[in-house]
Amino acid sequence: MSRIRFNAIEEAQKRAAVQVPVLPARISELYGENVFNQDSMREYLTDQAYKSVLEATNEGKRIDRSVADQVASAMKDWALAKGATHYTHWFQPLTGATAEKHDAFFQPIEGGRAIEQFEGSLLVQQEPDASSFPNGGIRNTFEARGYTAWDPSSPAFVMGTTLCIPTIFIAYTGEALDYKMPLLKALSAIDDAATKVCQYFDKSVTKVNATLGWEQEYFLVDKSLYHARPDLATTGRVLVGHYPAKGQQLDDHYFGSIPDRALAFMRDYEQESLKLGIPVTTRHNEVAPNQFECAPVFEETNLANDHNLLLMDVLEKVARKHNFRVLFHEKPFAGLNGSGKHNNWSLATDTGINLLSPGKNPKSNLQFLTFLVNTIKAIYDNADILRASIASASNDHRLGANEAPPAIISVFIGSQLTEMLDKLEKNIKSGKMTPEDKTELKLKIGKIPQILLDNTDRNRTSPFAFTGNKFEFRAVGSTANCSSSMIALNTIVAKQLQLFKVSVDARIVTGEKKDEAILKELQKLIIESKNIRFEGNGYGDEWVKEAKKRGLSNFKNTPRALAAMVNKKTIALFEEMNVLSSVELHARHEIELENYVMKLQIEARILGDISYNYVIPAAIKYQKLLVENVEGIMDIMSDDVETYTSTQIEMIKEISKRFTAIKQNVEAMITMRKKANKIEDLEKRAETYCDKIKPFFDKIKYDTDKLEMIVADEFWPLPKLREMLFAN
Ligand code: ADP
Ligand code: MG
Repeated sequence: MSRIRFNAIEEAQKRAAVQVPVLPARISELYGENVFNQDSMREYLTDQAYKSVLEATNEGKRIDRSVADQVASAMKDWALAKGATHYTHWFQPLTGATAEKHDAFFQPIEGGRAIEQFEGSLLVQQEPDASSFPNGGIRNTFEARGYTAWDPSSPAFVMGTTLCIPTIFIAYTGEALDYKMPLLKALSAIDDAATKVCQYFDKSVTKVNATLGWEQEYFLVDKSLYHARPDLATTGRVLVGHYPAKGQQLDDHYFGSIPDRALAFMRDYEQESLKLGIPVTTRHNEVAPNQFECAPVFEETNLANDHNLLLMDVLEKVARKHNFRVLFHEKPFAGLNGSGKHNNWSLATDTGINLLSPGKNPKSNLQFLTFLVNTIKAIYDNADILRASIASASNDHRLGANEAPPAIISVFIGSQLTEMLDKLEKNIKSGKMTPEDKTELKLKIGKIPQILLDNTDRNRTSPFAFTGNKFEFRAVGSTANCSSSMIALNTIVAKQLQLFKVSVDARIVTGEKKDEAILKELQKLIIESKNIRFEGNGYGDEWVKEAKKRGLSNFKNTPRALAAMVNKKTIALFEEMNVLSSVELHARHEIELENYVMKLQIEARILGDISYNYVIPAAIKYQKLLVENVEGIMDIMSDDVETYTSTQIEMIKEISKRFTAIKQNVEAMITMRKKANKIEDLEKRAETYCDKIKPFFDKIKYDTDKLEMIVADEFWPLPKLREMLFAN
């Protein structure tokens, strides 16, 4: 009898009865309470220091040493007042999580006394002993020198009793070892390129910020049930488990009323998030039972991304307080809806204009079209780079699995804009445009806001969709650091905007009027990038065929998708845009492949353990009961024994057949793993794991799930899907 499973269910059910905490009347008062934001800075800093920090934030200016000392001292005083005792450089190594190493403010001084101290040098730069972070061969571990450097554009905050200072993480030789540094570079590239293009329309624009509004999906599972599933606890997903009789078929969870226990958790994490300055506003149930979503108001991309990572941390901490475990995995439960992290993206000028929002007059609409069309062209030219940026072992369960965006990158813009682009494509004549042509086009362009207003098209199957005033990149995985996709997207769009500017300028030089030059260039881009636009059902088989005909790439798994990170075109592009060097790209490629292999290796091991330690023993126990039953019947009956024992004997046989198959598959998988591990070439090893080892997962799951259906419930040791999804 499986005590652990039954106790876990009982505990989970008891915990479901909770009081939902009441929020303070004005939660806005909590907002930013634990952030060293402009208000706190003004209070704690001299005017000169305050100005320096603002310049560093807005213009990327260097902060000089004496100012850094002042800022450090002010930060310390502010943090001490908040109850902090330690500080840390908070950074984003390529493991995907965030990292921190805490140091005390406390310093012993002469005479057996001590003071609280924090100097500018400690704020600006640190050298964590970071030899164990992945670096893709950039650093030899014997000279494990990497350092963290303050990113003044993202404010410091207090979490618990620690002052956290957002930093970049780089090798001594200058290469980035994190996500933040290339993100800042990509954001600077798009700022530069977009600002220059904006000059065609408005000379007063001096800065363009890429904006990011993420939507984070996750599951909640009771702590005891989570720990009763070794697969879930170690890999973040269940590797076996029959689909529950009732899953999400009735669509009764989506936007349904949030269960009290989950609501209590949400109120708690929302308060924590608001105090940290994360503007979370939206929460709702997602499609699958116990699946939820949280979304903030969008922000500048670097800050938004820091906030996403911070939120994931907060969710994890607060979930523990509520005896939940939060699952960020893209596919914790096979057959049920997966989790993504939609990245809503746009560009905003320092004059307050959203460049992907249609304007009020033909001029601003031409600007809108310029950014829309250039984005589409960038995606068309670099779909493989975008696909690589979202590839991971866990996201493979979503992409192309018929219930999430497909692995084929395409762009959806809705029927109205499609019509608009089609018209532009046809109506622009090749020769010189007459005044009538121009008036006609202006009229058409002028109509955009009206048509978008009632544009209710919402194609949920598109990986990259225009949603009225922004693009929504839906293929990003729920575990991902948004930086990866944001580095790719902003870099490719920046590059395209540069190309656009060069072509338009060249036209102007030959005597074309500016508007005409822009329109003609847009027409060219519209025609060239047409194949990436797709308005139909992205989940259908027809699309796979159609996309192939159009020559679009379709990388179905991570090892293949990652290859685009290091091809000639990508390296040239990232080097030219000064975002990542060839060395850095190769290192990242290696880290991603390594990560892929590790993830699959761990899953394979756990699957073997579960099969031998849980599944097969449970099957044998139940089989023994059947055998005893048959023996008993034979003892008391003399004739017609067959009639009374044939069903049991069939079941006995089936159980043996199933666990034999499981054992054979586990053994074959282990043999294959041994072979794969000997493959020197990392790319080949990853491909072998993908093609030769992963298929065993499904085979083993198949027979295990059949056993789950026949073995008596009381013998089954692992919490079932229905219990994990509905018991809390
Ligand atoms: P849905 O779930 O239907 O896609 P939501 O309202 O949940 O819509 O999400 C919309 C997201 O888009 C929010 O996170 C919001 O902050 C973000 N967003 C809105 N405008 C912009 C913008 N200009 N730039 C980036 N993100 C934006
Ligand atoms: Mg969305």
